[in-house]
Amino acid sequence: MGIFNKKNNKEYKLASAYAKLDSFDLLFGIIVLDLSFEIISINDKIAQLFNIDEEEVKGKSISVLQTSLKNSEFHDGFWTETLSGHFFANEVQVLVGETKLVPCRLKVVKQEEEGYILLFEKMKIEDTSSITMEPINELFLELVQQSPDIICFKDGGGKWLLANQACLELLHLDNTAYKGKTDLELIADTLPIYEDAFKTSMMSDEDCWEQKKISRSDEMIPLISGKEAVFDVFKIPSFHKDGSRKNLIVLGRDVTARRKAESDLVLSKRKAEESDQLKSAFLASMSHELRTPLNAVIGFSSLIYLEEDMSEIREYSRIITNNSQVLLNLIEDIFDISLIESGQMQVSKVQFDVVRALNEVYEMFPVEINMMEKFELDFKLILKHTNLSLVNDVYRFKQILTNLIRNAIKFTHNGFVHITLSETEKHIEVEIKDSGIGISKEKLSMIFEVFQQVDTGYNRKFGGAGLGLSISKKLANIMGGEIRVESVVGEGSSFVLSIPK
Ligand code: ADP
Repeated sequence: MGIFNKKNNKEYKLASAYAKLDSFDLLFGIIVLDLSFEIISINDKIAQLFNIDEEEVKGKSISVLQTSLKNSEFHDGFWTETLSGHFFANEVQVLVGETKLVPCRLKVVKQEEEGYILLFEKMKIEDTSSITMEPINELFLELVQQSPDIICFKDGGGKWLLANQACLELLHLDNTAYKGKTDLELIADTLPIYEDAFKTSMMSDEDCWEQKKISRSDEMIPLISGKEAVFDVFKIPSFHKDGSRKNLIVLGRDVTARRKAESDLVLSKRKAEESDQLKSAFLASMSHELRTPLNAVIGFSSLIYLEEDMSEIREYSRIITNNSQVLLNLIEDIFDISLIESGQMQVSKVQFDVVRALNEVYEMFPVEINMMEKFELDFKLILKHTNLSLVNDVYRFKQILTNLIRNAIKFTHNGFVHITLSETEKHIEVEIKDSGIGISKEKLSMIFEVFQQVDTGYNRKFGGAGLGLSISKKLANIMGGEIRVESVVGEGSSFVLSIPK
């Protein structure tokens, strides 16, 4: 293909004509036309440039190529005008593919009686790149606008040049003429909730300018919902040659969910470690709790064997019974905890008389109080209602109350332990109020946690393995209710068991 390869006389003559032209080595493409502007021949470069086949265009009017030519002066009569002059040179842009424009200089050489030679000369490469910038700019803008991350450009004086939709929406500036304004000015244009975020951001902008390098930090942005979003923000400063501030690019990604997951992970790791330590401490204390009554049982039963004095034997047997009871309670507590922990604790739902159940629990304690030699203790049951029933688990109901009352007696040296039965619209409530040692605020939050024993000092002094309250609370929850507590150190505590009717 191409005029050089053809043996056609006419073409050959025309080809030799262009060969005399001084700009030969800049030649990019050649089109040979006859006098009626029909294409006689094209060279390979033209075929590639316009993406056409010589055979296809041969004999057709030059105007078939006009859709591939772009220039500002291009119009319908372009070819007629161009070709009617003897010599014409003009700049045109050849559209290659969908977007790329290749700038060329088009020269027309008229051969009298023969036709025309159109010469396309390449222009400088730099021109090409500058012209192809246009669509790239558009793509870039689209990228900025569509990004789910926030993007904002500021000038060296902190004025906003461009911000994408995500950024404007986040700060409720989407209906604001923000361009040319500083953060300080924009505070007045948006909701007051953003004031602190803007001010913090201004400080971190300044920091970044001073450090003269990319900065990265978490910035908190308040949300309309009242919550806060965490943004992982990069700030990228650029400077003029003289060192003065040019632009600051701010990029931010919402990492609220990620930060939450991270802190949850840290928390659960800490909890797991804590729980591990607590379990070890629990086992250590448990073995102590088990060994003490067991030693008493073994010791006193071997003494009984040798003892002949009947009153001594009775005393030993009392001690053995008490310690066996402690052991049994402990084993039951451990059993309950493991049932609860494994989710296998079940409660039965049977109707029972609340007053009767409460009386049965209450009646157990005077003996215990006497054994503890708390003869002065004002231990009272106050019934605000005498006819109440519940459909729930009476055994667990009594177990919870036994725990709460036993604690109240245990931690009250003198004064009172009052048990009050009342009802609200939806609940039956039993309050166990004592004038005992009380619990500090800080311990109050942990006394119900599994394996969270309170101050071991207390335990040693008062006995107990620290399981009762965690079991009681979980049982109350399984029964659909709750245990509330209020306490003042040195004044006493009030535990309320509340079970729905
Ligand atoms: P235990 O009584 O076996 O130690 P609990 O789980 O029943 O275990 O109670 C946990 C801790 O809560 C007790 O050790 C005690 O420090 C505190 N506590 C519970 N009830 C009272 C109360 N009525 N007065 C003061 N402290 C109490």
